[in-house]
Amino acid sequence: MKSHARVVVIGGGVVGASVLYHLTKAGWRDVLLIERAELTSGSTWHAAGGMHTVNGDPNVAKLQQYTIELYKEIEEISGQSCGVHITGGIMLAGTRERLDWLKMAKARGRYLGMDLEIISVDEAAKLFPLMDKKHFTGAMYDPIEGHVDPYGVTHAYAKSAQIGGAEIVRHTRVTDLQPRADGSWDVITDHGNVHAEHVVNAGGLWAREVGRMVGIELPILAMEHQYLITGDMPELAGKKEQLHAIDFEGEIYIRQERGGMLMGTYERAGKPWSEVTTPWDFGQDLLPNDLERIAPSLEVGFEHFPALGAAGIKKVVNGPFTFAPDGNPLVGPIRGLENFWVACGVMAGFSQGGGVGLALSRWMVDGDPGADIWGMDVARYGDWTTLAYTNAKVRENYSRRFRIRFPNEELPAARPLRTTPIYEKLQAENAVFGDYCGLEHPLWFAPTAQEAEDIVSFRRSNAHPHVAAECNAVRDSVGLLEISNYGKFDIRGPGTAEWLSQVMANRVPSVGRIALTPMLNERGKLIGDFTMCRVAADHVFLVGTYAAETYYMRWFERHMPASGVTVRPCAMEYVGLSIAGPQSRALLQTLVRDDLSTAGFPFMSFRRMEIGVVPGYVGRVSFTGDLGYEIWVTTDYQRALYDLLVRAGREFGLKLFGGRALNAMRIEKSFGSWAREFRPIYGPFEAGLGRFVDFKKSEFIGRTAAAEEKDGGGALRLVTFKVDAADADAIGDEPIWHDGKAVGWVTSGAFGHRVGHSLALGYVPAALANADVGFEIEIIGERRKAHRLDGSAFDPTGKLMRA
Ligand SMILES: Cc1cc2nc3c(=O)[nH]c(=O)nc-3n(C[C@H](O)[C@H](O)[C@H](O)COP(=O)(O)OP(=O)(O)OC[C@H]3O[C@@H](n4cnc5c(N)ncnc54)[C@H](O)[C@@H]3O)c2cc1C
Repeated sequence: MKSHARVVVIGGGVVGASVLYHLTKAGWRDVLLIERAELTSGSTWHAAGGMHTVNGDPNVAKLQQYTIELYKEIEEISGQSCGVHITGGIMLAGTRERLDWLKMAKARGRYLGMDLEIISVDEAAKLFPLMDKKHFTGAMYDPIEGHVDPYGVTHAYAKSAQIGGAEIVRHTRVTDLQPRADGSWDVITDHGNVHAEHVVNAGGLWAREVGRMVGIELPILAMEHQYLITGDMPELAGKKEQLHAIDFEGEIYIRQERGGMLMGTYERAGKPWSEVTTPWDFGQDLLPNDLERIAPSLEVGFEHFPALGAAGIKKVVNGPFTFAPDGNPLVGPIRGLENFWVACGVMAGFSQGGGVGLALSRWMVDGDPGADIWGMDVARYGDWTTLAYTNAKVRENYSRRFRIRFPNEELPAARPLRTTPIYEKLQAENAVFGDYCGLEHPLWFAPTAQEAEDIVSFRRSNAHPHVAAECNAVRDSVGLLEISNYGKFDIRGPGTAEWLSQVMANRVPSVGRIALTPMLNERGKLIGDFTMCRVAADHVFLVGTYAAETYYMRWFERHMPASGVTVRPCAMEYVGLSIAGPQSRALLQTLVRDDLSTAGFPFMSFRRMEIGVVPGYVGRVSFTGDLGYEIWVTTDYQRALYDLLVRAGREFGLKLFGGRALNAMRIEKSFGSWAREFRPIYGPFEAGLGRFVDFKKSEFIGRTAAAEEKDGGGALRLVTFKVDAADADAIGDEPIWHDGKAVGWVTSGAFGHRVGHSLALGYVPAALANADVGFEIEIIGERRKAHRLDGSAFDPTGKLMRA
C-alpha cells in the first residue's frame, strides 16, 4: 500500500467504488480505496439490485436518473457487465389517495423529463399478468426501472476507477484516523499507515464506527431487510422478463429472478440491526430468516399475486442496510473537520450511488456539489439526532417506506423531544404541533371543543377554516405566533461588519436597523437568506433557517478570518414571539416605554427594549407582510413575555396563530423561504432577491457571478400565480404548464385566506416571466388555470408593513 494519497476512500461497497470512480473522472488520479475485506462486503453483496428514478425530492430524482444512465458508461470503460435489466415498472395503487399520490409523482416527473404514465387496472394487468386486478384501482408505469447485479456494478465502478489511475487495497481495515495540523489525515490501518489530504467515509454498515474515529455520531442505523425468491413458475416460462412492481397496499416490491419471482417487504415491525456498534467480523454474512415478522406482508402479497403463493419459497435473504432518519443519504463535508467527507446512509445504492459519487467528487474537486443536494446534505442534521432519536426515526421511516406522507402529516416517533417554555401553554390552547428539527412548534389551533389533530389529506383539510380564522385575525386586528424555530447566530467582534459584508450579498445595516440579505456561493447561487439585525457596531443578531444551522455554520467557518469576529449559533438560547396585524403596534405600545410610532421605530428597526418586565430585542418586521414585530428573549423570559402579550392583547382581540397561517400569509405576500423558493439552483435575480444584492460593495462572495446574472437576466424567474383550484391547493413540486408544455415548477402553494383564492409561487423560464395568459398548474392530476400576478396578491406596494 502506498504511504501517501490525495484521497483515501474508506469502504469498497457500491458507494465507495462510485466515489472513487467519480474522483478519477474529475481528474484526481492519486486516489486510494481501502476495503476491510473483499469489495461489496457490507450491505452491497446481498442487495436485490432494484433501481428506479422516482423520488419524493426532485433533486434526488435527478441524481437517480443520472445513476441509471451511468451503467452503460462504466460497462464500456471497464468491460465489466453491470447485469442491467431494464424491465420497466409499475406502481400499483389500491386506494384513491395512493392514486392521487401517483398522479402527483407523474406530474413531478414531467419537468424532470421522466416518461411516467398513469394507467388503468386493466392496462396494468396486461403489463403485469401476475396481479389480481380486484385489489387495485390504478397504476403508474415507468419505462426506466429494472435491476442490476450488485457485484457487477461495484466491480465496474472499481475497474473504471483503476483504469482512471485509482488504487484499491483489499483486506485492510482502517482502525483510526488522526488529523494533522495542516488539515490532512493519517489513516491508520492494520497494514500500515497512509497520509491523505482527504478522507471519505463510505463505510456503509460501519460508517458510524468510522465517524466515531473522528469524534462524530452520524445519524444512521441499519435495519434488517428480507426478501424471498420463489421456486420456478410456469407462468414465466418462455415469456419476456416480468416488470418490476410495487404494491403499496401490500407494502411489497416484486421482480423476476431467473425462473421465479423476488418479493421483498418493508414490514411495519422492522427490526434494527446492531443498534449501537456494528461488529467488525460481520462480512459476507446473512442474518437468520424471520418469516414470522414479514408474514402479514407476505399474506397480502400472495393474495394480490396468487401465482407467487403457489410457487413456494425457494430462498430467503435477510441482510442489514443503513438509513438516515429521513431515508435520504448523508453526503458532504463535516462541519468542523477539515477534508473529511461522508457518503453514507445510502439506502438505495443502485439508484443513488452514481449521483452520490458525482456530487461528492465535484464538491471535493470544485468546492461545490454542482447540483442541489440539500436533501442529501449531511448538514441537514444537528445535535438533536442522538442515537435513540435516530433509532426511533429510522424505524418509523422504514415502516412507512411504502406509505404515503401527506403534506399535512406530522410523524409521531421521538416526540415530543424539544419544547420551548410555553409548550404547555400552547397545548392548553389546543395547538396542533409540528416537529421541526426535533422541536415542537404550533401549526394551528383547534377550537377547544375539538380534538387537536390534523386529518391527513392532499386536499384542503379540517384545519382550513381554523387557519382562515387565524389569518383573518392577523389581517384585521392582531395575532400572536411563536417563532422560536428559527436559526439564530450571535456575531460579535470589531470585524463583524467587515466579515458579514464579505459573506452576505446585501449591505450590513447601520446600528438599530435590520437588513434582509441573500448569501451566495462563488457561483452566485443562493445558499441562504437571512435577517441581519445590527445590535451595535460590533454585534449583529442574525436570523435564518434553523434546519440549515449546521449548513450555514460549515460555510461561515470556512470563510472566517483568523481574528476579529466570532459566530455562535444560539437558536435555543433565544426564543421568540411575533405579533402581527394592524393592532400590533397599539398592543405592544401598552407594554413598552419606547415610542413605537412610524417615526420613532420605523419599519426594519431593531432595538433592545423592556417589554413590561421582560428584556428582549424587538424588530419591526413580520413574515406575514403586515405591520408586525418580532420579539426575541432568552429562554427564561419566554413564559413571562407570552403572559404579558396575551393579557395585554385581550382588548385588541389578540388571537394565537400557527405556522400554517404564517405560510399562507407569506405566500399572499410572495415572500420566499429557504429550501422552497431559495435553493442553490437559483440566482438572486431569478428568485426576486435582486434588490437585496448591493453592487456598491466592491467585494462579496458571489459578486462576479451575481453581476453576470443581473446583466444576463438569469434563466428562470420566480412568479406568483392565482390558481383556479377546486378543493386542493398546490403544495410544491407541481408542474407549471404554458400553452400545453410543462415549463416550470411550483415551489409553494396555499389558499390565500385574505385575498380569497388559491395561490402558488413557482419558477418559469425568464422569457415567460411577463406572459399573462396560457398558464396552468397541475394539481393532483388536473390542470387548473393559473393567472400570473404582477406583484404579491396581498398589499403589493407594501404599504401596510411599512405603516
Ligand atoms: C436485503 C437487501 C436488499 C436490498 N435491495 C436493494 C435494492 O433492491 N436496490 C438498492 O438500490 N439497494 C438495495 N439494498 C441497499 C443497498 O445494499 C445499499 O444501498 C448499498 O449496499 C450501500 O452501499 P455502501 O457502499 O454504502 O455500503 P456497504 O455495502 O455496507 O459497503 C461499505 C464497505 O465499507 C467497508 N468498510 C467499512 N469500514 C471499513 C474500514 N474501517 N476499513 C476498511 N473498509 C471498511 C466494508 O467492508 C464494506 O465493504 C438492499 C440491501 C439489503 C440488505
